[in-house]
Amino acid sequence: MLYIGCHLSASKGYTAMGKQAEKIDANTFAFFTRNPRGSSAKEINISDVAEYLELSEKLAFGKLVAHAPYTMNPCSADEKIRYFSRQTMADDLKRMESTPHNYYNFHPGSHVKQGVETGIELIANQLNGVLTEEQSTIVLLETMAGKGSEVGRNFEEIRAIMDRVERREKLGVCFDTCHVWDGGYDIVNRLDDVLEQFDKIIGIEKIKAIHLNDSMNPLGSHKDRHARIGEGHIGADALIRVINRPEFKGLPVILETPNEMDGYAREIKFLRENYSE
Ligand code: FE
Ligand code: FE
Ligand code: ZN
Repeated sequence: MLYIGCHLSASKGYTAMGKQAEKIDANTFAFFTRNPRGSSAKEINISDVAEYLELSEKLAFGKLVAHAPYTMNPCSADEKIRYFSRQTMADDLKRMESTPHNYYNFHPGSHVKQGVETGIELIANQLNGVLTEEQSTIVLLETMAGKGSEVGRNFEEIRAIMDRVERREKLGVCFDTCHVWDGGYDIVNRLDDVLEQFDKIIGIEKIKAIHLNDSMNPLGSHKDRHARIGEGHIGADALIRVINRPEFKGLPVILETPNEMDGYAREIKFLRENYSE
């Protein structure tokens, strides 16, 4: 079963997202846990959640991939920003338990001149401060394009963060095809090698979700500009190979392509047509 969807607006609640997903033939989706740039989170509406859970069961949705706000930077040099970041993640994880057993994805952060080692320490500190034994949510570190001072620009950096986290069983990785390509991993010509490397460094089973994006830029550009499926440097064929990898079967695949709803519906249709069970 291909679980595929896109980012949806959370402003009208879970049930609205579920219905919107159904309309475009999606069976998973992503959403920002709060305004991607801002800080305040909407109250969880219990009856909305109950209605959504029923709907998602009826439609046999896969796991959701919630996204932390972009303003979160666990390895900021500014202590106030780090504090905000930690509070935000702790609060998000609490709220995520209303829809248990899903994923919460975040960008490890940008170390901004502090150096990657310090960045890794600070990110791990935040995770050690917020992860709890009771949580059913798995927190995903997103593979990054390596723009500016982003941490997580290669598999080694992700591994280094994970190594410093006590509750490693609560962690996974979100594999963003645009980001790994921009990061210098040739998923077009050497997908086998890239996944073998990932497996050696982190363990392939740690990949829990895919962000499926084409890239506006060539391999290793460290730019992070997403393109529609088939309109970038990765190309449709390579992305079709990604979703058909046996290691990735059953994982939620989230489109983060520059599209409106009709464009997402077309991409979902196209990818379903090119998916073999
Ligand atoms: Fe992201
Ligand atoms: Fe992404
Ligand atoms: Zn991106």
